[in-house]
Amino acid sequence: MNERYSRQILFPGIGQDGQEKIRHKHVLIIGAGALGSGNAEVLARAGAGKITIIDRDYVDASNLQRQQLYTEADVAEKMPKAAAAEKRLRAINSDVSIRSIIGDATAEMLEELARDGVDVMIDATDNFETRMMMNDVAQKYKIPWIYGACVGSFGMSFSIIPEKTPCLNCLLRSIPLQGMTCDTGGIIAPAVQMVIAHQTAEALKMLAEDWEAIRTTFVSFDLWRNQYASLKMSKAKFAGCLSCGEERTYPYLDQENWTKTSVLCGRDTVQIRPSTSGEVSLEQLAGQLSSLGYAVKGNPYLISVDMGGQRMVIFQDGRALIHGTKDITQAKSIYQRILG
Ligand SMILES: [Zn+2]
Repeated sequence: MNERYSRQILFPGIGQDGQEKIRHKHVLIIGAGALGSGNAEVLARAGAGKITIIDRDYVDASNLQRQQLYTEADVAEKMPKAAAAEKRLRAINSDVSIRSIIGDATAEMLEELARDGVDVMIDATDNFETRMMMNDVAQKYKIPWIYGACVGSFGMSFSIIPEKTPCLNCLLRSIPLQGMTCDTGGIIAPAVQMVIAHQTAEALKMLAEDWEAIRTTFVSFDLWRNQYASLKMSKAKFAGCLSCGEERTYPYLDQENWTKTSVLCGRDTVQIRPSTSGEVSLEQLAGQLSSLGYAVKGNPYLISVDMGGQRMVIFQDGRALIHGTKDITQAKSIYQRILG
């Protein structure tokens, strides 16, 4: 093992054996926003064998305050976060195999990845629907994962190990987690960093297979009010849970339960996913729209169309973000005007 990881190998919790284990593991990070970019950077530097990172959004100026992988150039080029993250992570550690996926994390996609072999999943999403889906995938394929969320100066984290700890669906019975999904109240970078620290410490324990060291409590903190809490969760496991109980059905893996439209967190933006999947020729579309008089800009991953009050960004998979509205009906009519 080279000098690169010497300090981590000197650390007794990891050692040479642990480092060797870390080097052969695959981490799946869902989301490449604040939590996703921080988690990815720490785990790439730690020498994880393979990192897959999924994100549906592109880099915006308001991300730079806390999303540590991105630069002003990424904003200027409207780079998809997953692609910008991949480029940066490769520059940080060329030993790590990095794969980025631009798009929504769907149950189908996560199950396919899980079947190929995922050792640890990191929750870095901003929405509850995706978290519940991750939770079902984790239970079905026995993959440990680390829940994390933050808003304002507040954050929380919990490590979920299938067949051992309660799952996220169990926790919902005792903790009101749904409120923790939107950043409309603003956010400070240290709250993000604190959640990243908890998630990556747990991830390193899992990757190095030091299962005894895993934190069993639900941790939450408020860095502005100087409050810390660590709740015991041993009694939270619910026998009737549909995700981890005896009569489990994995309800969140059913695509029928998925919405096709969603309002993006604190962004005055609606996302629309087409009901049929398939690649869109962005070049062709950009040409058509330009000839109709629209102002179109883009890069190989997406095109951005200025429409007066609103702006629509279309990705290769046909997904669109409509900025400047929170109204799903209005967003749909704009989408249909452009994409039919
Ligand atoms: Zn459960």
